[in-house]
Amino acid sequence: MSIQPSPSSPPKAPAADTERVLIVGGGPAGLSMACALADAGISSCVLEAAPLSALQDPAEDGREIALTHPGRAVLEALGQWALLPPEEIAPLRRAHVFNGEAPEHLGFGTTDGQGELGYLVANHWLRRIAYRAVERRADRIELRTDCRVSGLNLNATPELAEVRLSTGESLRAPLVIAADSRFSTVRRMAGIGAQMRDFGRSVIVCRLAHSGPNEGIALECFHYGHTLALLPLNGGCSSLVLTVSAERAAEMQAWDAERFRAWVQAQLQGRLGEISLASPRHLYPLVACYAHRFTTRRLALVGDAAVGMHPVTAHGYNFGLYGVQKLANILGTAHAQCQDLGDAALLQRYAAKHRRRTWAIYQGTNAVVNLFTDERAPARLLRKGVLQIARRLPPLQAAISAQLTGRTPPLPLPLLRGLQALRAIRS
Ligand SMILES: Cc1cc2nc3c(=O)[nH]c(=O)nc-3n(C[C@H](O)[C@H](O)[C@H](O)COP(=O)(O)OP(=O)(O)OC[C@H]3O[C@@H](n4cnc5c(N)ncnc54)[C@H](O)[C@@H]3O)c2cc1C
Repeated sequence: MSIQPSPSSPPKAPAADTERVLIVGGGPAGLSMACALADAGISSCVLEAAPLSALQDPAEDGREIALTHPGRAVLEALGQWALLPPEEIAPLRRAHVFNGEAPEHLGFGTTDGQGELGYLVANHWLRRIAYRAVERRADRIELRTDCRVSGLNLNATPELAEVRLSTGESLRAPLVIAADSRFSTVRRMAGIGAQMRDFGRSVIVCRLAHSGPNEGIALECFHYGHTLALLPLNGGCSSLVLTVSAERAAEMQAWDAERFRAWVQAQLQGRLGEISLASPRHLYPLVACYAHRFTTRRLALVGDAAVGMHPVTAHGYNFGLYGVQKLANILGTAHAQCQDLGDAALLQRYAAKHRRRTWAIYQGTNAVVNLFTDERAPARLLRKGVLQIARRLPPLQAAISAQLTGRTPPLPLPLLRGLQALRAIRS
């Protein structure tokens, strides 16, 4: 199904093959990509496997997305942020990290103690505002739903790539952008490999209502055998993110609501007061991915198809938004100069910039996950030592806070090397 131009915009025939870009995937990254291209004067056609209703009114999926300040800035520039009801934006003021049962914590906040570290917004809201922003640009965006891409030919002609749809139809364009999730089939069909990291763990997420205040503070409790994160939401609620082995997650997901609630209540040791479950529970296997390349001939990867993060450092969709902005800027300038949008040098510039922005944080996040989920005695000792050192080093805390807020360039190389060394010691 295609969405029609809104009544206020003039009816417009679909752009010719050479004048539009094909975007595979109408998730938040693909829809935001279409919006950013439209604002740069470039028409696109978004091809999405799901039905239109799933985009218009996305179901609650338990994910609460922590947005950085630069992530919010991209949503503002795309006119999406203003579409969020204020009560759906929860400020994240501080984060407290606990190790095992130890009462002391490592705290992160903004360097001046003012303002927010970031913002929490439900994923279904981010998807909804991305769709609404697309609707408002219907003169430059064609959206085809119930439309699965099943084939790719990047050499259809010297000027055009071609995608094949499961209906048998083919579409051509100078550039294909893949935004079809971390398990991207387009990436695979293009022969681009990816570093896939299966953590062997799953997260169970749901909303909790509680009698005590959360004060805008996220709690990250690294217990032995499981990790419990509580993300502060508005209205006396928090989002629970429980990480356990895949097997244990399946078992706990089968518990009835009261058994699960009582278990979480016991783990919280009185923090947040009396709790109750305020939404269904959702389960996600934890798999991270980093594409070996972000571009190839007439193809660029964005969103999770390029970098799919472990959620612990909350960068996944933020990275998607940074990539969207970068690629749209480059293509917008090229379009204004009537350049070929599939030009390899242009795409390479996007790839190099996106890699610089994401690679160190991807590796750093995986190193942190390794350290904090290894249950062996030396790793436990190392973890305790790292937290103690960090507590005594305010500049390190400030550097990590800056990373969380997205307010600094990528992790300095020495810090990354340190994380890698820790990983090497651990194994
Ligand atoms: C538990 C959890 C917590 C998270 N927390 C955070 C956080 O705090 N901060 C943060 O920034 N990020 C977070 N993330 C990550 C964030 O949710 C993702 O980065 C983001 O949703 C990815 O969007 P996307 O559009 O790239 O991919 P997706 O949302 O996966 O969308 C891909 C789309 O492509 C479509 N598609 C796939 N194949 C085809 C095909 N062949 N043809 C046509 N269409 C196709 C799919 O139907 C889908 O609509 C979290 C993720 C999880 C699981």
